[in-house]
Amino acid sequence: MKAGGVTNPAMATVFLAYGCNFHCPGCHYNAENEQGWEFIEPLALLRRLAEARDMGLKAVVYSGGGEPLFHKDAFEIFARTYDLGVRVGTITNGSRLLRDRELRELLFTRNEFVRISAYPETDLVATRALAEQPHQAQLGLKLLLSTTTIDFTRHVIRFMADAPWSYIEIKAERQSPDNLAQWEPAKVAALERELKALSPKVKGSLVKETTARHCYLTPVHIFIDAAGDFLLCCYFHGRRQQFRFASIYDAESFADIWHGEAHRRARARIDVGGCNQWDCRFFRYLEISDAALADADETPIGWRHEFDDDDSFI
Ligand code: SF4
Repeated sequence: MKAGGVTNPAMATVFLAYGCNFHCPGCHYNAENEQGWEFIEPLALLRRLAEARDMGLKAVVYSGGGEPLFHKDAFEIFARTYDLGVRVGTITNGSRLLRDRELRELLFTRNEFVRISAYPETDLVATRALAEQPHQAQLGLKLLLSTTTIDFTRHVIRFMADAPWSYIEIKAERQSPDNLAQWEPAKVAALERELKALSPKVKGSLVKETTARHCYLTPVHIFIDAAGDFLLCCYFHGRRQQFRFASIYDAESFADIWHGEAHRRARARIDVGGCNQWDCRFFRYLEISDAALADADETPIGWRHEFDDDDSFI
């Protein structure tokens, strides 16, 4: 991959919907969500996921974009995705789980994880009670921080810390006027320490991360948005045309799309400056990958050959 090649993807992130019942000021997808509801076509999506599963796909995360659980066919999409034999996770604002018992029981039983993002519009009492419901899935809470939501975040951590969440993740909002990156790094680090001192469940980082590396790891995952477009990753804002390489509605097979020229050209268009607008987990994965590749150069040829034969990156 570092030389421009492609591997078969191990996981997929899918936006089921644009449109949301919340209107959070710092949401990255407000422009898309304000255009009204747009739902991915379930059969076309499931056909692509089945093709990818046959190539080694192991896991699917349904997130947004908009609020994924407001897709009108959400129950059927989840049920059919479990039938594919892949592991499933969900990132949601949780509001539909408060009133749709059937969907909640399905996800809490069959998902690997359900991560609920709490915003100022969230019904905190009802959401806390959600964590008390029977579940096999790992339940986590996520809090997105800007300079204007710090008191809210402190309150939520104190209110939620005793509920059976597996973790409470804090993350900094980016690309908004209230972005914490306008603060001195030491002040941001002090805020992070203060929030983590409120509960041992608090995880994550508020520090702005950057990379100097050109990303070559996008082929480990598929990203599909609610319009049905294959894009290199979810951080496509301001570079959608660069990052788009196909649609789930195209005639070619998934294998031809994935290993095709349009995908290769899109990967060549990745710009480090665009990546650095965000805090992307792949920054760290690139460091790990580069270190592993450097180590591999120093290992005996026989071992390297086994590594090269393995077509599943993770
Ligand atoms: S934002 Fe950049 S580093 Fe992150 S996955 Fe996308 S292309 Fe890779």
